Amino acid sequence: MSALEDNSQKLQAALKQFEQTGVLNHINGKDVPAHSGEQFQSISPIDESIICSVAKSDANDIDSAAIAAKSAFADWRDMPAKERKAILIKIANGIESRAEEIAVCECWDTGQAIRFMSKAALRAAENFRYFADQVPSARDGMNLPSPTLMNVTTRVPIGPVGIITPWNTPFMLSTWKIAPALAAGCTVVHKPAELSPLTARILMDIAKDSGIPNGVWNLVNGFGEDAGKALTEHPLIKAIAFVGESRTGSLIAKQGADTLKRNHFELGGKNPVIVFPDANLDRALDAAIFMIYSINGERCTSSSRLLVHESVKDQFEAKLIERVNNIKVGHPLDPTTEIGPLIAQDHFDKVSSYFDIAKSDGATVAAGGQRVGDKGYFVKPTLFTQASNNMRIAQEEIFGPVLTSIGFSTDEEAVQIANDVPYGLTAYVWTNDLTRALQVTDKLEAGMIWVNSENVRHLPTPFGGVKASGIGRDGGDFSFEFYMEQKHIGFATGEHKIPRLGA
Ligand code: NAD
Repeated sequence: MSALEDNSQKLQAALKQFEQTGVLNHINGKDVPAHSGEQFQSISPIDESIICSVAKSDANDIDSAAIAAKSAFADWRDMPAKERKAILIKIANGIESRAEEIAVCECWDTGQAIRFMSKAALRAAENFRYFADQVPSARDGMNLPSPTLMNVTTRVPIGPVGIITPWNTPFMLSTWKIAPALAAGCTVVHKPAELSPLTARILMDIAKDSGIPNGVWNLVNGFGEDAGKALTEHPLIKAIAFVGESRTGSLIAKQGADTLKRNHFELGGKNPVIVFPDANLDRALDAAIFMIYSINGERCTSSSRLLVHESVKDQFEAKLIERVNNIKVGHPLDPTTEIGPLIAQDHFDKVSSYFDIAKSDGATVAAGGQRVGDKGYFVKPTLFTQASNNMRIAQEEIFGPVLTSIGFSTDEEAVQIANDVPYGLTAYVWTNDLTRALQVTDKLEAGMIWVNSENVRHLPTPFGGVKASGIGRDGGDFSFEFYMEQKHIGFATGEHKIPRLGA
């Protein structure tokens, strides 16, 4: 049996769990359909077939989930750290033991290739394990003595939180948000992306099997404009952790204004990879290719703009074209596949529209620029050359396997081009000149920068963007800054003088 056949069999076995009921919500410890009884269909981007039905929830379902999260909050907050930690570790173990099933479902639901999704499932387990270890220190504070007071600080969880996730790597991103929220002592209402609901449901089952108390973690499926919006407006929900498009972030900020929501936004990017002539060009090439063509280019941290020094541009682009034309587009469950289909028809249409936009703006389509096959949302990995930074292909987040190459002559020009976009999520710098690396990284407007490296995530480091790429940071203790409130308590150390009015 080929590996593709083997994975297809695993998928068929995994999909059985959705056959009878489709994807249900999970509210206050119970699997439930939407109050309205409405459902929508989840479609596989691989062959456009219907996978299963999904609960189409609205404000009523969000209300039930928010009430459940509120009722469960005090007990979860006050649960001894050791017990809360043990539940998170059980969830990590549960993810590991179901990693294959999660990976094949994720591929089928999103079109992502198995070679990346099997690792994403394991990274998700790591997220839970890492934050389980942080539980005992989550409430730690400081001692800031003054002449008359012993001032101490402690952190307390903010309350029930809403978590809204996108479809690009839905399982991993859900754990990245939910694990620190639970570790902090918050209860959760999770609204996964409507385009990729399967693995959030599996994650919920794992949590249930790991002994998560009723109401601590609630799952509500549905569309952004109804279930998502209602979550961001609900008065019992204290904060919204959101990953998605920048324009949705703006909407959520507005929707949450009346209830004074705290928001954490991880949004879009148009990230530069800057290649200086003194760099190890072979490694720079590998990293540039990996960072835009892996995960179907549907990756917020993708290096979607290549800024390459004029002196090495022609040779770099020639090698790039050869490699891009060699990337294997295919069935996501085939382990040799490097690029699968885009998530959905709308997104396929959006990505494909840039093939014409590039030409009409005067750029060259040096590789790709076409669809693959006539079923499913496959496109060829694409490279635009002869581009300038003011073109739409250099300014807008395409969110597909599409790279725009732009030349530069001086360090100042490289920095100027890199910063001249609305976004500021990541940047990648390739140089062996230390002074240049220090100067350039100091000037780049980005939340995260890697020098001579692709994006290698280290969980304690801050993750997030500047400008239209986001507000706030995730990772390590930075996550607790969002999910917790600082509380200051001053204890008088003696009988200091209190001003006496009316005495
Ligand atoms: P999206 O903004 O369309 O949707 C994300 C989520 O928001 C979905 O669950 C959706 O239902 C919900 N939503 C939509 N409208 C809403 C509203 N009015 N109120 C509340 N919720 C609403 O994003 P997408 O297309 O699913 O994901 C792709 C985007 O996510 C890209 O822009 C990508 O860069 C970004 N992203 C960012 C990061 C990061 O860490 N910065 C990581 C992954 C993806």
